[in-house]
Order: sequence, then structure tokens, then C-alpha cells
Amino acid sequence: MNPEIVEQLKAYDGRPLRIMEVCGTHTHEIFRQGIRSLLPEKIRLISGPGCPVCVTPVGYIDQAVALARRGVVICTFGDLIRVPGSEASLADARKEGAVIKMVYSPLDALEFAKANPDQDVVFLSVGFETTTPASCMAVRNAKNEAVRNFSILTANKTMDQAYYALRDSADAFLYPGHVSAITGTAIYRQLCADGISGVITGFTGPEIITALTVITKKCAEGKPFFVNAYPRVVTDEGSRPGRKLIHEIMEPIDSEWRGLGVIPRSGLALRSEYADFDARKKYNLENISGHANPACRCGDVLKGDCTPFDCPLFDRVCTPEHPVGACMVSNEGACSAFYTYGKEA
Ligand code: SF4
Repeated sequence: MNPEIVEQLKAYDGRPLRIMEVCGTHTHEIFRQGIRSLLPEKIRLISGPGCPVCVTPVGYIDQAVALARRGVVICTFGDLIRVPGSEASLADARKEGAVIKMVYSPLDALEFAKANPDQDVVFLSVGFETTTPASCMAVRNAKNEAVRNFSILTANKTMDQAYYALRDSADAFLYPGHVSAITGTAIYRQLCADGISGVITGFTGPEIITALTVITKKCAEGKPFFVNAYPRVVTDEGSRPGRKLIHEIMEPIDSEWRGLGVIPRSGLALRSEYADFDARKKYNLENISGHANPACRCGDVLKGDCTPFDCPLFDRVCTPEHPVGACMVSNEGACSAFYTYGKEA
């Protein structure tokens, strides 16, 4: 890290600032690099809702567990397997005999479905703008190739409306570089016009430190701002093909976020032309809703209303080996980061 920039940050003596790092990868890198310990008291970092597993509501897990128990093969990224549902996780369903396959891409799940035409296969489609295009590609390919035993259970989300919902939780955001590589910068310019400030940054310690320094300087100017501090990856235009693919296959819907409630037009669902590949419709899952463990404070953590240390279950009942809430399961979750690094930070 550039010592001069680190010293500038350490010397910050302006008004108290709350800076929300939206992305779980940022949260972990901030801990890994010991960045919290470099900051003066006047700068408080808040871990936001940018971990897709963490913001996926309990009801979604319950729907996936119900499918698994009906004999449907569930294909998923690994993190989701251990997230507790209302009364069981996918890991529990697996112990009962359900088939839960870990995959690295929805296209892997589609290939599995094609190779096993006698089995119903559902991919758990969870994620933000970065991962959604791959789900869309899998659905488009499945339709083109008439793969009838494949569908996806969507919980795809978009970030822009979440910033509006969280605008009172932070003075500025550290915007996630990889999501921004798809969206481009137009959404941030609009956020800035609406009074919401932030800086796009990459994922290394020096990049994060630089972005924090930019935020302190810009906040001192006293007006909303947006800076792209990750121009080697994020262009103004973003990924036009990625957005076109999403628009072709999915449409915006109101979506429930764990801890944040329903945020209008913050989710994506398959368009009606692709209803045959919508697992929620295909298997009549709409009526399954969940209830989180009331002692878990994931929701408050995701809004920045408390830190994982404030949760009475942290490191007592809830650990990465025995997670109570999603924020302790995922590698990108704030509770997992505080558990892994927090004591040294
Ligand atoms: Fe939920 Fe566990 Fe985090 Fe507490 S420590 S908020 S129970 S995930």
C-alpha cells in the first residue's frame, strides 16, 4: 500500500463518516489487509448487503428444500447448501437422501440435465448482475435445445434500488467493481443526481485504501459525488451484451431481501416466454414462505444497524461450522468475516 495515502487516511479529522462496503469480497479484503485498524475513529466501515447468499430470504431456501425432498436434483453454488431454512437446510435434505449437486455455473447444471433426461434438475439462480447473465444463457440454451427437465429457481437481484433503500445507513458507498463492470456507470450518476454518493473500487488493499481516501476528500466538499476509481475494469458503458441478455430473458420484479424487506424492482424473474423454465411456476412453489430464526440479527447486520459482535449468538451458538444465519455461512458474509478476522482487526 502507498504509505503516503495510508497516512492521509489515518490523519483524517473531518466529520464522522459511515462508509458502507457493499460487496462481501470488499468486506473480507478489508479484514484480510487489516484496513479497519488503519482507520481513525471518525471513519466507520459498515458491511452492506452485497453478498447474494446473505440477502436471499429464508423462504427461498424452504422452496429449494421442498423441491429437493420431492426428488428434484438441486444444482447450486456451494454456499447455499448450508444456509438454514425455516426448519432445514439443503445439507439436511441431502442427509435425508436428496440429491444436491454443487456446480460452478448454471451451464454445468444444464449439461447435467441433458445427460440425465430422466431426472428433473433445478439450478438455484442466486446472485447479482455479475452472475445473472450465465443463468440467462442456460435458460436460453435450454429453450433452444428443448431441454424439458431443466429449470431455474430465481432469486436474482439488482443493486441499484438497494442503494436507495440504504441511503440513510451510510454517508457514502464503496461500490462493487465486478457488478459495475456489467452495469456501467449510468446508475451511479443517477444515484449521485439523487443525492447518493460513492466510489467504484477494485478488490485489492491498495485499491480499497485509495477509494476510502477519495471518499474522505469528496465528503469534505459537502455535495453528492460519484467517482470511478476502477477504470481499468469498469467502463462507462459496462457490458452491453450482458445487459441485453438479461433484458431478453428476465424482467424486473419487486423482490424480498433478507433484513431489508421487499424492495421495489430490485429483483429479476424469467419473462413469460420462458415460464417453462421457471421452477417456482413449474413446481407450484409460490405458497412456500419462510421464517428466520428470530434471534439471528443478519437483517440488522446487513443494514449496518449493528455489527456481528452485537449479535448474542455470534461465536457462541453461531459459528461457521454451525451457522444460524446466512451471514455466517457465505464466504462473503459479514459474520463470517468478523469471525475469521475480526478478533485481529
Ligand atoms: Fe445471524 Fe449468526 Fe450473524 Fe448472529 S452471528 S447475525 S445468528 S449469522
